[in-house]
Amino acid sequence: ALKVSGLTKRFRGVTALDSIYLDVARGEVVTLIGPSGCGKSTLLRCLTWLEEPDDGFIEVGGRPFGRAVVGQVVHRQTRREIDALRPKIGLVFQNLNLWPHLSALENVARGPVVVLGRKRAAVEAQARTLLARLGLERQMDKHPHELSGGQRQRVAIARTLAMEPELILFDEPTSALDPELVGEVLGLLREIAATGMTMLVVTHEIGFAGGVADRIAFMDQGRIVETGPARAVLDNPTDPRLRAFLGRVL
Ligand code: ATP
Ligand code: MG
Repeated sequence: ALKVSGLTKRFRGVTALDSIYLDVARGEVVTLIGPSGCGKSTLLRCLTWLEEPDDGFIEVGGRPFGRAVVGQVVHRQTRREIDALRPKIGLVFQNLNLWPHLSALENVARGPVVVLGRKRAAVEAQARTLLARLGLERQMDKHPHELSGGQRQRVAIARTLAMEPELILFDEPTSALDPELVGEVLGLLREIAATGMTMLVVTHEIGFAGGVADRIAFMDQGRIVETGPARAVLDNPTDPRLRAFLGRVL
């Protein structure tokens, strides 16, 4: 579903991503862990072209995204081409980013109507079903400020699912939540994973990483320094930086 090669990003001399290679197969759940500042959010932002990578290639669903090699020449897609492909990648941030002036239902329905050009009646029906599935049947007409943090995050996830993306990137989806709401959102991620959705999840929840993820990738200083099956990586970390990191968070 996702193939990343040589992805590099510098900010005024600081190398935030230092040639990242990462493949996520269809239906696979990969968690990305690593210390603060190692480049996790930058990677997700570059994968969606919210941030322009300096170098490297991204493929989504077997098609180049952002940059492609045509003959021998690297061709940068136009803004319009990038915008057309962007809905294939869902992104759920740590800071809730719902539209404050729209109801939960409208937050979910807007993308499929405005971006994908689908018929409003069908989209609304689908959005209602989706919100009900996520336990929000009585919150559909409420605005974000009338919802709890966990409910807001569920609306944000419903909004992403409504776009029927090829894969979903999550950036610490539980870190802005009160502790008692974390389990609720992790449970929802587990359910989404069980539907076969392809997911790349940045998380500090090592328990989630070990329990739900097929694979873990550990990042340090802009590089993926270790990757492998989740349990194996957690039980037998080989890289000393990963051992030190797990020693701090476990
Ligand atoms: P955290 O776990 O704290 O969220 P992170 O792994 O997501 O950290 P990033 O936010 O990706 O880390 O930051 C990686 C590096 O890039 C850091 O050194 C950061 O200061 C730098 N950086 C990120 N965004 C920018 C920016 N817009 N301008 C300049 N430097 C940036
Ligand atoms: Mg981050």
